[in-house]
Amino acid sequence: MAQRIMHIGFDDTDSVKGGCTTYIAALLVHKLGRLGAGFIDYPNLIRLNPNVPWKTRGNGALCLRTQLDPDTANAVKETVIDTVEEHADLEAKGTEPGIVFFEAERIPAELKAFAGNTITGVVTLKEATKLAKKFGVEAVGFKNGRGIIGGLAAIGETLEGDHTYEIIAYRTPENCGLKRRVDETSIFLMEKLTGPYTFNNVDAEKRRVIITPRGPDPILFGIRGETPEAVKAAFAAVKPLEPVERWVIFRTNQGTDAHLSHVQKLDNASPHHPLVAEGTVSTSPKMVRGSHVIFSVDDKTAEVDCAAYEPAGALREAAKLLIPGDLVEVCGSVRPCSRAGPITVNLEKIRLLKLASAIAYRNPRCPKCGKRLKSMGTGKGFRCEKCGFRAATAQKVRAELNRGINPGLYAASARSQRHLTKPLRRYGLEKSGVSGVCLVAEWHFP
Ligand code: ZN
Repeated sequence: MAQRIMHIGFDDTDSVKGGCTTYIAALLVHKLGRLGAGFIDYPNLIRLNPNVPWKTRGNGALCLRTQLDPDTANAVKETVIDTVEEHADLEAKGTEPGIVFFEAERIPAELKAFAGNTITGVVTLKEATKLAKKFGVEAVGFKNGRGIIGGLAAIGETLEGDHTYEIIAYRTPENCGLKRRVDETSIFLMEKLTGPYTFNNVDAEKRRVIITPRGPDPILFGIRGETPEAVKAAFAAVKPLEPVERWVIFRTNQGTDAHLSHVQKLDNASPHHPLVAEGTVSTSPKMVRGSHVIFSVDDKTAEVDCAAYEPAGALREAAKLLIPGDLVEVCGSVRPCSRAGPITVNLEKIRLLKLASAIAYRNPRCPKCGKRLKSMGTGKGFRCEKCGFRAATAQKVRAELNRGINPGLYAASARSQRHLTKPLRRYGLEKSGVSGVCLVAEWHFP
């Protein structure tokens, strides 16, 4: 019997308390394999617009692309539904899982476009269900079923452009909730061995490990990188000090800036959407509430506040050094206006394109002793306090100040980056035009 391709998307299974959509995917890779399903791609982990107000923790949706005998299709669907039901945090308010099954050789362009909109914007469940109906996609929703949006988007995002990989290792149930035990020295060594082909392993500024999450989810650690081989080599270099129940390699849009793909005008800045815009710094940066830096940017269509938050380290340091007149490209997400202020771009990156010149007018130096002269008052000339020299007709001298910053790209430090944010290390390593995936021999366990 001819095999069929079935894409299985799901989302919105986790809550702040626990649960983890990637863990459900890892379980299903094993379970569906035992039912005889093959995989035509790594499980796809698709990060959606990180700014939607109802997002689950990481706003990551999953898609399994399988190849199976038509007579196993029903068993596969049942297994997926049962596994989501068993492991999703259905009690949690706001957790509304959705599962989507789509049998198709090719993903329609309309579905790809829909996926793009869920990454760069905000879409509704109504749009998703309408599209599902149009293409004969089977959608199963729990509670209000909002996860159908992400499930459908994960199927539609085929990662033909830039993409990365993540290998995720999971803990045994008895360890979940306890402190994660992984040999830190081995992580720093792994970073040394596999960089730049892995990324976001450690925070260089704070010398801190960031592959281990905090919180109650079952992830022990996850290593992100450019190829399946790179993340596998990195995985082999890390020494866990507790049992690893299972691991899987995911293909993903993490670290690609997929949400920052369109340059817009500032008058398009819309709450909960990502924004990339070019403009001129129009107010001097100021520190607020002790640690945030706020400045405005104007592109002639609008003037918008931009904020660099304390944890953003290098980005905030760069923001502090901006002056009115600097030409910048700002990247971030738009926060709606609130009691605290107007709409604000929460910055992820600043590209400093052109420095304004900072001019200062200073008193001339004394020609006799070299000390800077004192002004005697407007139009009254200058006098040297040290040697008494007087210069009745001298003028202030124009001096260009050293800005202490150069044109270039400034990004939030690794510890505060969003899943989608492209780290500086990845610039130049972007992939394009990928079609057809070749799976490495061992990409999951068990
Ligand atoms: Zn003097």
